[in-house]
Amino acid sequence: MGGLGSGWYGDRNGKQTTSGSYSIDIRQLFREGSHLLGQSTTWSWSVNGKSVASVGVLLTYGDVCITYRHKSHIGYWSDEAYTVNLEWTDCHYGGQRPWFQCPNRYCGKRVAILYIGDSIGCRQCQGLVYESQRESECNRSSRAADKLRDRLGWKRGFLHGEGYRPKGMHRATFEKLALSHQQVTQKTLNGIAERFKLV
Ligand SMILES: [Zn+2]
Repeated sequence: MGGLGSGWYGDRNGKQTTSGSYSIDIRQLFREGSHLLGQSTTWSWSVNGKSVASVGVLLTYGDVCITYRHKSHIGYWSDEAYTVNLEWTDCHYGGQRPWFQCPNRYCGKRVAILYIGDSIGCRQCQGLVYESQRESECNRSSRAADKLRDRLGWKRGFLHGEGYRPKGMHRATFEKLALSHQQVTQKTLNGIAERFKLV
């Protein structure tokens, strides 16, 4: 079984979007995989005919078990296994159609498409995970900036800009701290820009 690449539903260029390649559509699954009901199989995603990621799938009428290896954003591989319940609803013109039930236990919404990353969930749930991850990265760097500001004797909050070299601090120490501050500030700004889609 292949592994999903690093990052969040990202393609190889690191593009991060919930409409990326790693979504799975229940209608397509039944259309193309119904002959595999009850058997372990592989579901893959291809770019230009080449498989770039795959998950193990065990499909039944009641649920689908999805297994995969995933490289998390902090760089370690983990094995994931999700059992996703299916729901069936009547169609207008007869017959029934399947739905996923979002495996996030706080959600459970009936959806046609699930997104696969560190976890599996509906667009909304995965979007929230994505947002909170972004936010914590952003908070982490602004906290780091404040730590440096404390040492520099500058008022907390990078929006206050850069201050002067404190009395008694060696020039070299000051320059080192100021440079680190500049770097983490840039990281915070990048994080903010990305969150608000300014880039
Ligand atoms: Zn959900």
